[in-house]
Amino acid sequence: MNRLIIIVFAIVFYGSSWAAPVMPQPKMAKINERVYALLGPMGQPSAHNQGYMVNSTVIIGEQGVILIDSGSSDEVGSHLLKAIAKLTPKQVTHVINTHHHGDHVLGNSVFQGAEVISSEICREMVNKTGHEWIALMEDLVGHKLPNTRPVPATVTFAGENARAERTIQGVKLLFWIPKGSHTVGDMMVYLPDDKILAGGDILVNRTIPVMRDAMVKNWLGTLEQVQSFDARTIVPGHGPLMKLEDVNRLERQMARFYAGIEAGYKKGLSDSETRKTLDVREWKKLEGFDANIGSNVSRAYLEVEQASF
Ligand SMILES: [Zn+2]
Repeated sequence: MNRLIIIVFAIVFYGSSWAAPVMPQPKMAKINERVYALLGPMGQPSAHNQGYMVNSTVIIGEQGVILIDSGSSDEVGSHLLKAIAKLTPKQVTHVINTHHHGDHVLGNSVFQGAEVISSEICREMVNKTGHEWIALMEDLVGHKLPNTRPVPATVTFAGENARAERTIQGVKLLFWIPKGSHTVGDMMVYLPDDKILAGGDILVNRTIPVMRDAMVKNWLGTLEQVQSFDARTIVPGHGPLMKLEDVNRLERQMARFYAGIEAGYKKGLSDSETRKTLDVREWKKLEGFDANIGSNVSRAYLEVEQASF
């Protein structure tokens, strides 16, 4: 008898310690009867979180579900699909991407048959950079993602600072393409009847805004415009739900940062010298500070330099 028990024990004991880390569950935030935020863990994609670190918005419409942002891989997309199935038996009929970064678009392939919607530039960027993003995600999560492939949008909105209103699944949606802010092809989605704004990574909470691909000055203008919406609840790209006062705080922090970069440039300091002059005490408390402050400074400095020519 004992042999069997020992074998079972060994499988259970060692099996659990060998098992790959389990993808963390989203925090489900019910905003109203038909809109939920699935809040992902904070932090960079990693072996620990299996690449799951983004926020998504789930809108349960008349016949189907609209999902905003689909995760970093087919694995994350499937994980989101399971979470959505706990909320509703309806299928996902529409996937909206707020921008082309891998953590927001690489789960698209899971939602077969769904219409994928983004800005026109986001679609181009998914085509251009999708495979690079997959390679980066594989690197960060520490394993291959053979089923992940870039799926660009089939319905797109063009223009700069353009707005388009559509009713999808009985839900009124305002698609807003601000001037390129976090990336060249950002899009935000406002639900005027629900007073909910899905901001993508233009709006982040308790985590440092990532400026690697940003147009910082445009971003500041966009944050100003966001505050003219009557949004009661804001789903940021990363971090807990926000209110308009959080947007205002983000705008002030970013404006101070940009002014500090301008001041350094005007004094003739290099970007690394400028960095030492910045007051980053508030940002130091935020997730992702060490990973991003250097590239944020370089990007903003370059922008200030180009603007002065
Ligand atoms: Zn993101």
